[in-house]
Amino acid sequence: MDIEELMGLAKRRGLFWPSAEIYGGASGIYDYGDVGALLKRRFESVWLSYFVDTGRDCYLIEGSTVLPEAPLVHSGHASRFNDTIVGCSKCKTFYRADVLLSDAGISISEGAGTAEMDKAIKEHRVKCPNCKSTQFMPAKAFNMMIELQLGPEKGDRGYLRPETAQSAYLNFFREFNVLRKTLPLGLAIIGKAYRNEISPRQGLFRMRELTQAELQLFFDPEHWVSELGDLGKRTVTVHLYGKKEKQRIALDELVEKHKIPAFYAWHMGFIDAFYREVIGVPEEKIMFLEKGGEEKAFYNKIHMDIEIDIDSWGGFREVGGLHYRGDYDLTQHGKGSKQEMAVLVNERKVVPHVLELSFGVDRNLWMLLDVFFKKDSDRSVLGIKPYLAPYHVAVFSLQKEADLDSAVERIYKKLRPGFKVFLDNSGSIGRRYARMDEIGTPFCVTVDYDTVKKGSKDHDTVTVRSRDDKKQTRVKIDDLGSFIAERIAFNPYEYFKFN
Ligand SMILES: [Zn+2]
Repeated sequence: MDIEELMGLAKRRGLFWPSAEIYGGASGIYDYGDVGALLKRRFESVWLSYFVDTGRDCYLIEGSTVLPEAPLVHSGHASRFNDTIVGCSKCKTFYRADVLLSDAGISISEGAGTAEMDKAIKEHRVKCPNCKSTQFMPAKAFNMMIELQLGPEKGDRGYLRPETAQSAYLNFFREFNVLRKTLPLGLAIIGKAYRNEISPRQGLFRMRELTQAELQLFFDPEHWVSELGDLGKRTVTVHLYGKKEKQRIALDELVEKHKIPAFYAWHMGFIDAFYREVIGVPEEKIMFLEKGGEEKAFYNKIHMDIEIDIDSWGGFREVGGLHYRGDYDLTQHGKGSKQEMAVLVNERKVVPHVLELSFGVDRNLWMLLDVFFKKDSDRSVLGIKPYLAPYHVAVFSLQKEADLDSAVERIYKKLRPGFKVFLDNSGSIGRRYARMDEIGTPFCVTVDYDTVKKGSKDHDTVTVRSRDDKKQTRVKIDDLGSFIAERIAFNPYEYFKFN
């Protein structure tokens, strides 16, 4: 699928579209429709079960999306959370400098400075996409946080949080005390973050308001995962910083040959299993890309992007990250708040280190549509795992007729308490199947004449058609609930046995 096709599907099937669409939309902000909102919840709840419920000492918290200025000064965001922008001297349109260059076919490193950007723009005589002028103002840093005024006139300055992570760091001390004062301690947050992106136009891949699912693991660097055990044999694809090519390598080997700490490699395996086994992404479509030098975020000691091969973007794109942030965050907030962040564990005082597992929920949704939407000669199917499906089951009546309708109503009422059920009585059965296939509904239940015909051997049974193999099974109405429940259940322990 290309981008237009995917956006078309998203709009047609109730997934997502630009916010304020009736006013022409706004760039970088999106609304989710009924199907999209459900799909997002499913992804989030599977993520939560897998990363938090199976994790030892991991807890979900929720931080405010509005933060006062002080923590963001000390986290470094107020001074360093910048993009380099460049404005056209003639028409005054501003661009992200790296995007302006890459759109002109010039590659530049992600962390290039303003001088380097200016030089490249001049050298290649880059034209303003808007007015074709080649005269640009000097490139400059632009802070990407969205500023707020809290309270009336000249109130306090605040910001919409640029990442959910800060909420975890700000609450570490409180939670550490609440939770029996032991390390490791994981604090997870699923929530909104905000970035004032310059002219975003990459669908759910560059948004001004986005949802992150993040797990911050606080640990004592001298007492954490030191052995990989059986997990060490698992192979992952990784492109290490400074290497020409990506490689397929066992986690054990990453630790031994490439000096990746065991705790880090362990979590690479944990994440790889999430994408391959839980989500079902083919092995060759997942890789870790290590960032180094200027490309690495300033707070990270080890920084790997989690990338998935996404056809609509023409290759591998970042959907998450695994970041070893050291003690940067707690040390900074300790200084800024004058609160002691060192804690007493293992008979030592230690400022906990942080390993961050970070996922862009919106990007992952786009990925699900891109990777799992398949078109063949006779139909289009969103072949996601049944537990990720927005609607679990659809209920149809073969014909519009009073007897059948009342059976449909009975089934609908019966299934609704445990499942997300979609009723559809418009169009042919074929059209109704097609609509459900496109949004990944794993089961369609059809009520026919035999269902309501007393004395028929199929009385009180329905046809259940399964999405993937189109197989039709006759199931007793009384057994429908357990038939579906068994097939949509998600048990994270089946997928990861190393905790
Ligand atoms: Zn211009």
